[in-house]
Amino acid sequence: MAILQTKSVSFSYNQEERAVLKNISLSIDSGDFISIVGPSGSGKSTLLRMLAGHLDPDEGEVYFQGEIMEGPEIRLVPGYEEIKLVHQQYDLGPNLTLRGNLNAALTGYTSEYRSERVDYLIDFFRLREFEGHYPRGLSGGQQQRLAIAMAMSTEPEVLLMDEPFSALDPMNAALCLAEVRRLARETNTAVLLVTHDVRDAMIADKMIVLIDGEMKQEGTPKSIYDNPLNFDIASLLGPINKLSPAMAKKLGLENEGQAIRIENIRAKQRDSRGFEIKELMYRGAHQVLMVEISPKKLLYVLDGQKQFQVGDRISLDIDKESVLRMSES
Ligand code: ADP
Repeated sequence: MAILQTKSVSFSYNQEERAVLKNISLSIDSGDFISIVGPSGSGKSTLLRMLAGHLDPDEGEVYFQGEIMEGPEIRLVPGYEEIKLVHQQYDLGPNLTLRGNLNAALTGYTSEYRSERVDYLIDFFRLREFEGHYPRGLSGGQQQRLAIAMAMSTEPEVLLMDEPFSALDPMNAALCLAEVRRLARETNTAVLLVTHDVRDAMIADKMIVLIDGEMKQEGTPKSIYDNPLNFDIASLLGPINKLSPAMAKKLGLENEGQAIRIENIRAKQRDSRGFEIKELMYRGAHQVLMVEISPKKLLYVLDGQKQFQVGDRISLDIDKESVLRMSES
């Protein structure tokens, strides 16, 4: 049985205004790790708040453990103990130490269990040296790890995370996410992650693409990356070139495709009869070149060896079988 489910849910903040969520049906099982991606304003946070029991749908139903969820219209204090929502603004007690905050999150448990669980979480989230610090004495990243540790302290059935790593650098965000996933697996907690960083979203088992309040596509990150429904979704997940029929022909693609990802079109070697590099974007591990295919028609190309410069003329290495053909234009 799904732990959390929505059936044809629609919602608008204002009855007269357009719907922010449109006909959303999704199902989440225990232990699922799901990411929700979509452009800003597409309704991701709203969906999470509804799943947390903080908003009532206008149409459709939300079910928690098979029962219709009681939203704010019914519950005086909205939300469920078994569903935790972590967002950018975390509710840390300013007058409690890190240890004190974690301990307070476990109110109702025996002091022996609390102490044991607090120790476990402090070690798990690598916070031991800061256990006596107050929130103001913690970095943004440490505060964030503490907020997540508090949310997970009671082993909730569902953890909803709304851009939880916005204060972390990419390396620490990835580490923290891996930790959350490990802990969630231990406790069979379902995790829903809203993030604008698709690299984070890719580590989920399943991805949901929300655009303009509609669930446009769902599947494994790989299935969506390899078979996006349309160009907007394709470009949401990574750099990509849209190919006009004329460009496709110029690349020897016989007008067969609609788009190609940059890792599938690579700079090969200098070639005086090749395409000219007009711009270069250094990315550390590699560089992205903008080459002129025909006047004013530029293409993003991967230079994995970082060996070319603006003004060079180059030939290209194209994986023809990787050209994406999308069912929606
Ligand atoms: P996302 O998380 O994808 O950026 P949101 O769920 O925050 O999207 O917002 C979806 C839409 O709902 C936006 O147009 C936003 O302006 C609007 N919205 C969000 N919160 C409120 C609110 N409390 N009152 C009215 N409109 C809101």
